[in-house]
Formats: sequence, structure tokens, C-alpha cells
Amino acid sequence: MSENERAGQIIEWDVDGRPVVPDKPIISFIEGDGIGPDIWAAAWPVFDAAVRQAYGGKRRIIWHELLAGEKAQKLRGPDTRLPERTLEDIARYGIAIKGPLTTPVGSGFRSLNVALRQKLDLYACVRPVRYFQDVPAPVVHPERVDVVIFRENTEDVYAGVEWEAGSQDAQEVLKFINKKLKDSGSPTISLKSAVGIKPMSEFNSRRLVRRAIQYALETGRKSVTLVHKGNIMKYTEGAFRDWGYRVALEEFPEQTVTETELSERLNGQIPSGCIVIKDRIADAMFQQLILRPEEYSVIATPNLNGDYLSDAAAAQVGGLGMAPGANIGDRCALFEATHGTAPKYAGLDKVNPSSLILSGVEMLKFMGWTEAAELIVSAVTKTIAQGIVTYDLARQMEGAQEVKCSEFGAAIREIIVKAAR
Ligand code: NAP
Repeated sequence: MSENERAGQIIEWDVDGRPVVPDKPIISFIEGDGIGPDIWAAAWPVFDAAVRQAYGGKRRIIWHELLAGEKAQKLRGPDTRLPERTLEDIARYGIAIKGPLTTPVGSGFRSLNVALRQKLDLYACVRPVRYFQDVPAPVVHPERVDVVIFRENTEDVYAGVEWEAGSQDAQEVLKFINKKLKDSGSPTISLKSAVGIKPMSEFNSRRLVRRAIQYALETGRKSVTLVHKGNIMKYTEGAFRDWGYRVALEEFPEQTVTETELSERLNGQIPSGCIVIKDRIADAMFQQLILRPEEYSVIATPNLNGDYLSDAAAAQVGGLGMAPGANIGDRCALFEATHGTAPKYAGLDKVNPSSLILSGVEMLKFMGWTEAAELIVSAVTKTIAQGIVTYDLARQMEGAQEVKCSEFGAAIREIIVKAAR
């Protein structure tokens, strides 16, 4: 038995994929690459202070470090970017939080983030996007954005099934496809092309939409919007939309109405306790989120759409430095900063740790430790309102006091420690 297991307790999971959290849970963390160690050093004292302030000594997180990325390579050897032990421990302890990890573009190893999501079957990437008062934002009414994006996390073009242009594998796959295309009278594809596959299944689409609907019902949100590109990709994205509507109809018949029913049958009146299920084509959704964000509350969407949409939505409220993220499955959950490793700032104690801190807030809410989560949100809001911010916000805020990453974390912590119980 490890030292952590002696000091803490293991989180169990119920049949609906929800954690049953003891008072002293073991929670794993991965510092991450680049700016990861800077933001983790600023974030964890904030989490500990909030838990202490909210629950006295009754509750405490027992932190358990896991290796991944450059730190794993340095300590365990050049071929060990994602040690098996790290995967086993995330699965064993159930809840983890991480900083960003490097992925080279084009050549080199595949994304560790994608590997973590696929290997641990963390099928829902959840990105809440909301505005924090006084944060400089590029739109006139950023406060109208309050949306939680559920992005399918395991398939679509992200499945990593692709072959290099000119390779023998690509040519074999293309010959097979070209035969099918010729048989149906369609134009064929050049054998010199690169080729990738976009798998999308009913099982994975349905469980993602199910989580989004459950979340909307449990948190009192008004609607779930299925975002897809089904007008062009009928059998993948179009099917996602159809499967999504079917989940609502078959599994939540008393708690959901469609937008069509609402206008044709219900005269625009949402029955009490119900949420509205609607769908939008992805390109139109980008416009809608800018023009009428208040009409969108929870979004469920396939992998690639969700990736683009969450970053665009985060930009509307002040950028990625403020955006939290979570990857959730039925037996474990991994919370993470949504930005990358920002290598040029690594070790400078300069960047904004809010994305990781707010990911911790989502983690605490997921654990049911809402009082601690609320203390942090309130302290982050107050710190920014006092004009105490890191460089990214300071360069856009008149009269702001620019502080280091660690000082920003310390300012939040101080407000938490002084909060009345
Ligand atoms: P990035 O690391 O997110 O950095 C892009 C820019 O965003 C930075 O130069 C900085 O802008 C701003 N930024 C990012 N984090 C910030 C923070 N905490 N506070 C303030 N500003 C912040 O994106 P990238 O340069 O494209 O990616 C670098 C590496 O990260 C790549 O290897 C990529 O694969 C990886 N990555 C990992 C994850 C993950 O682990 N989940 C996610 C995305 C990317 P300014 O220069 O304007 O100040």
C-alpha cells in the first residue's frame, strides 16, 4: 500500500457514472510541460485553501503526482512520455487534474492528450464558457455567454486513423475506396492523396448526448443544442443529430421537448421541468454564438466541431487563459487547462493560471464539493475586479496591476483565507 493510500481514500463510482467521494480522496495530478509547472504551483494552494476554508479539517485532498510528458521522459527515459503506471493510476484513483502537454505538429509522436482520452475512455470533453466580470473581451456583451459545451472525445477525425500521402497503406485504402466509388458512378480520389477516416458510432454519440441532457436537467439549464454538419456529412454528422434526438425521445420523453414541438404544438411554452432539444448546423452555430449567445445553454457536438467551437466561445469571453476543461467517462474524469504549453513563457512565472484554477473548480463541483468551488470563483472574480491580473489581461485593461503567475494565485488564496465561514 502506498503512502497516499494510507493517508487517503479511493473514490468509488455509482452505476450512473457519478463519483462517490470520501472526505479524504486521493486525487492525481500531472504538472504538464512548458508553463504547466508554473500554473500548477499557483493553482494547488488555491484548491487546498478553499477546501480547508469550506470544510475546516473535515475534508482534504490527498494529492498524488503522476508523470507524463517531458517530466516522465526526464525521470523514466526518452521513450516514456506516457507511462503505463500513469494510466493505471488515473483509472484507479478516478479523478485527476493536469496541466498542458506538448504535441508536435505534423511529424513525431501522437498527442498524449488524445491518447489519455482514448485509453481511459473519457468520452465527454466538457467546456463551460462563461464571462468573469471586468475581464477584457472582444465582444460588446460577453456577459450574455453562459454555455457548457459537451464535445464527443473518442472518435470522429480525431480517432487518429489516417495514412500519409503516397504511402503504400494510403494507396491500398484508396484503391479499395475508388472501387466502391467507381461502382456507384462517383469521381475517384487521386492515389497520391493522404487519407483519414471519420468514424462516428451510435453508441458514442448517444452516451455523449445523454450526459449533456442529464447535465442540463440537473443544473436547471434550458436547452441542449445538437451541433453538426449533417447537411454535408449525412451518414456521420447527420446521424449524430438523429441519434441525439432519439436519446431525448427514448430516454427522456417526459423531460424534453423539441424546438419543432415547441412552436407547432406548445405555442412556445416550455412545460415545467422540461428542457428544449434543438439542432444547429456547425457554421451557423459560430454566428449564433456571437449574435444570440443567450439562446444557447448546453451544446452537444462531435469531436472536431467541439474543438473549434470551444476555443471560439472562450475567445468571446476573454480567451483561453480563462477557460476550464474536463474529460469525463463513466469510471474516471480528467480535468485540464484548455490552453497549450505556451513554451515561450515556460518557467517565467508569467502566465495566467486561471484556466487550471477554474478546471479545479469544475473538479470540485463534479465531486459535489460546491462550497469550495464557489469560494474559488468568488475569489477569482474579486481579484480581477481589484485589477490584479497577469500580463495577458493587464495588456488589455487600463490601470491594471500586472502580477506574476504565482502572485495572482497568492492573491486569490488570500481572499479565500479571509472569507468568512
Ligand atoms: P498555446 O500553448 O495555448 O499558446 C498560444 C498562446 O496562447 C500563447 O503564446 C499565449 O498568447 C496564449 N496563452 C496560452 N496559455 C496562456 C496562459 N495560461 N495565460 C496567458 N496566455 C496564454 O498554443 P500553441 O502554442 O499552439 O501550443 C503549444 C503546445 O501546446 C503544442 O505542443 C500543443 O500541441 C500543446 N497543446 C496542448 C494542449 C493540452 O495539453 N490540452 C492543448 C493545446 C495545445 P500570447 O503569446 O499572445 O501571450
